[in-house]
Amino acid sequence: MIKNDTRVIAIANQKGGVGKTTTAINLGTALAACGKRVLIIDLDPQGNASTGLGVPRAQRGKGSYQLVFGEIDVRTDATASSVPGLSLIPSSVDLSGAEIELVNAERREYRLREALRQTPSGFDYVLIDCPPALGLLTLNALVAADSVLVPLQCEFYALEGLSHLLRTVERVRRAFNNNLDVQGVVLTMFDKRNNLSDLVAQDVRSHFGTKVYETVIPRNVRVSEAPSHGKPVLLYDLQCSGSQAYVHLASEVLRRERRLSA
Ligand code: ADP
Ligand code: MG
Repeated sequence: MIKNDTRVIAIANQKGGVGKTTTAINLGTALAACGKRVLIIDLDPQGNASTGLGVPRAQRGKGSYQLVFGEIDVRTDATASSVPGLSLIPSSVDLSGAEIELVNAERREYRLREALRQTPSGFDYVLIDCPPALGLLTLNALVAADSVLVPLQCEFYALEGLSHLLRTVERVRRAFNNNLDVQGVVLTMFDKRNNLSDLVAQDVRSHFGTKVYETVIPRNVRVSEAPSHGKPVLLYDLQCSGSQAYVHLASEVLRRERRLSA
């Protein structure tokens, strides 16, 4: 753990479109609703977390690029979002060059860790929304994190992708970050009318046991509509099944942490 009062969680999966950004935004919102102070770091050059939280490109000043290169400070430079208690370090276009610029940077794997370690941040949770690749940006997130939370879509190659990711996490743990833990795997965009969804879910649970959250995020059209309104789905439609699932996920995350610290 980087600072004993802040929990840093990397939300990672090398596959795109599995629900990383949706989970960062809505788990973050649900944790903030429980009174936690939450920071989301948008580490994906596509900037979907920033858009989804209602921070348009034109309003993104300094962001995660500057954070990685030590030019800003999370305490003073995080942007407030429309959700009380939830702040954001947005992504900006220059982040797309970071992957290449980092190759020759000094201590290239530790940049984000060092940026977050400078000071007590004042946040209970820092959620890092990773890009869909296992490159240097994701590596920086894994080295900076206390744990990794993996959103997983129940489809044919899911298990293979998950095993690959967990092997990477293990390598990162040995080489760069002894404390890195797997926070959990959350099944996303679950479609109960689809038999394959069910089979894959059973398979994932039998392989990874209690690492898989009981909460399953259903496929729900309200979840996919919310980003175009620049809002978390919890603010867009609190009653829908997707919002309720993220509320459950947050309470499960909090319960597990209590068990870990007990
Ligand atoms: P990633 O960040 O892993 O690329 P996203 O969170 O951006 O994935 O999700 C990919 C797409 O699927 C987005 O358009 C998002 O709105 C949609 N989506 C995510 N979760 C759900 C869900 N539970 N139900 C319906 N659509 C979803
Ligand atoms: Mg994303």
